Amino acid sequence: MAGETIAAIATPPGQGGVAIVRLSGPESHAIVATLLRRDAGAPLEPRRVYVGRLVEHPGGRTLDEVLVFAMRGPHSYTGEDTAEIHCHGGSVLTRRILESALASGARAAEPGEFTRRAFVNGRMDLAQAEAVGELIAARSDAALRLAWSQLDGQLSGRVDRLREAVVSARALCEASIDFPEDDVPEVEDGRVARELGRVRGELEALAATFERARVRFEGARVVLAGRPNVGKSSLLNALAGRERAIVTPVAGTTRDVVEATVTIGGVPAVVTDTAGLGDTADPIERLGVERARAAIADAACVVAVFDRSQPLERADGLVVEALVGRRAVAVLNKRDLPARTGAAELRALVGATAVVELSALSGDGLADLEAAVAALLVGGDPSDDDEVVLFRVRHWEAVQRAVAELRRAEEALAAHRPLDLVAADLTAAAAALGTITGAVTSEDVLDRVFAEFCIGK
Ligand code: GDP
Repeated sequence: MAGETIAAIATPPGQGGVAIVRLSGPESHAIVATLLRRDAGAPLEPRRVYVGRLVEHPGGRTLDEVLVFAMRGPHSYTGEDTAEIHCHGGSVLTRRILESALASGARAAEPGEFTRRAFVNGRMDLAQAEAVGELIAARSDAALRLAWSQLDGQLSGRVDRLREAVVSARALCEASIDFPEDDVPEVEDGRVARELGRVRGELEALAATFERARVRFEGARVVLAGRPNVGKSSLLNALAGRERAIVTPVAGTTRDVVEATVTIGGVPAVVTDTAGLGDTADPIERLGVERARAAIADAACVVAVFDRSQPLERADGLVVEALVGRRAVAVLNKRDLPARTGAAELRALVGATAVVELSALSGDGLADLEAAVAALLVGGDPSDDDEVVLFRVRHWEAVQRAVAELRRAEEALAAHRPLDLVAADLTAAAAALGTITGAVTSEDVLDRVFAEFCIGK
């Protein structure tokens, strides 16, 4: 209920220099005023920072010396009166402060309830509210930039314009409905059809950005493949070392399978070093090879490693076979040693797959590999900041629905079917687009969106 005052610890659990307990709602200032011991007992004024002792309620024992920021609605994050208590970052301390606020009349906030109130009070639209969550969850610079651009309203602006175009087209159709059938101006028909085609084209282009934009948030699975001793573990360490990632050993069969989380060209990637893909009669080793094959099948991108200092072997041929139909980069490793396999020889084997020569030992050429992998994962433009993209399934589905409705409308127009049918399709298309910004929404959708948030956000 919007009339209630909610409270939550807004900072992550654990110890820290500072933590924040946040309140929002009509009683937030009054509640904080009763807990804060300061020189003057006057009500809190907005846009001011107060310093004072915070006392427990009930009991009156001093808990901490704190700063309190008071903001008056509608000029606040939630659009309501809000107060933030900045205290020392201890878990027992923040809990006591929260409990004191609850004992003074506040209710514990649900996950995402502050941001939900911001949406309900018109401080931001639904796509922007979702972007708050994405901004916090971003695991790479690329994800951060995309989340900020959405929070800044780029996607909402684009969707609103397209939705308005659909609504105008519907208005033209509706205006024509009153005409007798043979009086419907052909010109208007043609104009509406062209406009719908344009809007649908833009929406299709937007939908096409989804896959590679999504990769920047969820990350991609990259698998290192190659026969034993070509330098796969060395390459993994080189990739991880550059990024100072945590290398986690995972129990494997023939040996530990190792994976590292790194950022490659702005894309978060889990890189797995598989067991060698060599020929083997040993049943346990064969299991390792099977696992390697499964990992390759599951990967967004395969980095196939070959040893430049050795002639190609039969086992290298198995690796090449495993690449068929996969997004892959071939690495000719050990560039620091005299060559016994040339890049041209490998190119002839791997066909269109890019070949990168490098030294995992010295790190020489590693940047070329990262660029090649990033190009495969995000289409070669990892730093295109200006493009408006879709990265939430909910938005992508809405755009797909709108495209389908527009297509129906265009077909109905072309077949000279009654214009009220066209108008109905356009209403549905506009409604689908409206769900993105929350212009059209339901409690169900809001519940689902904000359930993903943490408490205090
Ligand atoms: P894996 O079995 O494919 O994981 O191969 P390793 O990473 O264990 O490497 C096998 C051997 O090759 C080790 O002795 C590495 O030090 C060596 N090695 C790996 N990469 C390079 C490289 O770029 N240059 C040189 N000179 N040796 C390398």
